[in-house]
Amino acid sequence: MPGVYISYPFCAQKCTYCNFASGVFSADLEREYLGAVSREIESQDWRWQPETVYIGGGTPSRMESSDLDRLLSRTPGRPWPEATLEAAPGCIAKDKASDWLRAGLNRVSLGVQSFIPRELARTGRKHTAETVAAEIGALREAGLSNINVDLIAGLPGQTIASWKESLAWIQKLEPPHVSIYMLEIDEDSRLGNEVLLNGKRYGAPDIPSDDAIAEMYEIATIELRRLGIHRYEISNYARPGFESRHNLKYWRLEPYLGFGADAHSFDGSQRFQNVESAAEYVDRSRQAKSPRGAATPSNNAEEKFFVGLRLSEGVQPDSADWTRFEAPIQRFLNEGLLARKGEKLILTDRGVLLSNEVFAEFVGI
Ligand code: SF4
Repeated sequence: MPGVYISYPFCAQKCTYCNFASGVFSADLEREYLGAVSREIESQDWRWQPETVYIGGGTPSRMESSDLDRLLSRTPGRPWPEATLEAAPGCIAKDKASDWLRAGLNRVSLGVQSFIPRELARTGRKHTAETVAAEIGALREAGLSNINVDLIAGLPGQTIASWKESLAWIQKLEPPHVSIYMLEIDEDSRLGNEVLLNGKRYGAPDIPSDDAIAEMYEIATIELRRLGIHRYEISNYARPGFESRHNLKYWRLEPYLGFGADAHSFDGSQRFQNVESAAEYVDRSRQAKSPRGAATPSNNAEEKFFVGLRLSEGVQPDSADWTRFEAPIQRFLNEGLLARKGEKLILTDRGVLLSNEVFAEFVGI
């Protein structure tokens, strides 16, 4: 069955590296937004029950428990096999975690990003490694032990030594799932913009080199494997059985339905995106207009490669794929970026590091 994504783009602060459509908005907008999302969920023609629910943002862990419960009560099928809440460390206590569990949530994704105080301070995050440790303890005490920890490789001032310190906290805290993202430099974040302008704010001159970031990624893969946390997608690692069922839908091109500002949907053949801004989303709801933009047809053959190759399980080309993509497949096999695994093609370790170049070759053929 499809997954459901609910977007909550409200945060206590805007982190310097963040390029999502999230931010600090007024309490009035936040209240109206919750009403608008509830209405969008209620207006859905529910003839099915989602298998997974994912509340992302933004910082949905800031939501009042009663609001969260009300929002989730609009979505059929509770309790769902997997229901994830994105949470920012610094606001989690055992009582709140118990409320989340009662509301039907059974997985928490913690945006830790780093365990090193000077790295966190430069991003605008307020937590410490000790806060994260205490809050993971509170989640477990409440019965929420399916926990993901996000880390970013490439933060200003990060070194191989400090990266290893963050990984040592992973060893200590033993989350069953870890996501490792490489810092993205683009004009949608304050830090990215500063780097592109050669500025000095937000620690922009202290971003590690591409080689150092690649080394951090490789160190993480080796260290997490040693801890029994295996890479199953380019940025995602899990103990067996703890892979994110919701996110796997994206990479396996299975359908999902998004609600809220900037939420995306895929019905198996077409993609849709809701308006990006929370204010416009609320406006449309007030006028009883759909928040969705026009449908974009999905190119399943191309996406099968540039989305599916992200997974360690790889993709299985059919005869039409071999005819269409034979040239890039052969070239990447010869260059050692792709390998065969039975009938499937997978990225090699070197292919993972050069994955953007590989994916680009499968578009527009
Ligand atoms: S990184 Fe997370 S907490 Fe920070 S601004 Fe972006 S969405 Fe909000």
